Amino acid sequence: MAELLKGAEAAAAIDKRALEILAALRVRGIAPVLATVRVGGRGDDIAYESSVVKRCDKVGLAVRRCLLPADSTQDALIDEIEKLNADSSVNGVLIFMPLPKHLDGEAARRALSPEKDVDGITEGSLAGVFTGSGRGFPPCTAQACIEILDHYGINCSGRKAVVIGRSLVVGKPVSMMLLAKNATVTICHSGTADMPSLARGADILICAAGKPKMLGKDFFSENQTVIDVGINFSDGKMCGDADFEAAAPVVRAISPVPGGVGSVTTSVLISHVLEAAEKQSANRSER
Ligand code: NAD
Repeated sequence: MAELLKGAEAAAAIDKRALEILAALRVRGIAPVLATVRVGGRGDDIAYESSVVKRCDKVGLAVRRCLLPADSTQDALIDEIEKLNADSSVNGVLIFMPLPKHLDGEAARRALSPEKDVDGITEGSLAGVFTGSGRGFPPCTAQACIEILDHYGINCSGRKAVVIGRSLVVGKPVSMMLLAKNATVTICHSGTADMPSLARGADILICAAGKPKMLGKDFFSENQTVIDVGINFSDGKMCGDADFEAAAPVVRAISPVPGGVGSVTTSVLISHVLEAAEKQSANRSER
């Protein structure tokens, strides 16, 4: 049976570092703040928001929740983002996406100050991931995959990695992060031919297609590490993109859903807010 790559263990290690950084910031009189921006009352936004608030409370990071009505205008949203950009007491901003259909998500991304973009949604942050400049923050979910690999000591250098999915939130950035760790990366998407044989050839397989149990037993091979990013529902139960029952007897290690990548994402978010607070404080003292 495969080793379970539990997100809680990786998250606990990140949270421990966060507590130390928070304590050091407090000594310097800095009390970091994360602002969340939610437009309307979509169930999954509310669930994500309450899990973020709970985790931040646990480590002692303040959260300011900004709520806009579902019928907000584009101007009202941009105005809110600009206020948060200008507010020096706010260190990081998390905008719940996707926005309601009548709003322009691209314009909202562009409006956010890159230095407060703790979830890596702006072009500046993504450019940092692609160029390896270290500027900005990678999307939290992409980094959560890497944190799990690092926590469990899975070496990427010289290994074949296959990423299924090419979104800007997960697939593309995690591919670049694996490349930066010297993996040989193949990106699969809805137009890829013979995906099972590509997937079987992977030492590290990242599943981020958002299709419940799409990866059956023909996708897996021995000695493989599977990181399942998918958060889907099948028969009322949460499941990943990998068919866990088919994968677990075959592969070397797999992150479960729930209890895998999702558990690490919020810890990564918190660590980004603290890093943003440190950078902003350093920039202010340079001026
Ligand atoms: P998305 O819909 O934006 O992108 C999905 C990608 O998968 C696309 O690039 C598409 O080309 C590809 N794809 C779709 N069907 C495919 C198929 N049949 N074969 C190959 N590729 C296919 O989704 P996303 O935002 O990247 O999220 C992916 C999954 O990760 C979702 O299940 C989402 O809920 C989950 N997610 C989890 C977290 C977390 O914290 N764990 C965070 C964000 C997203």
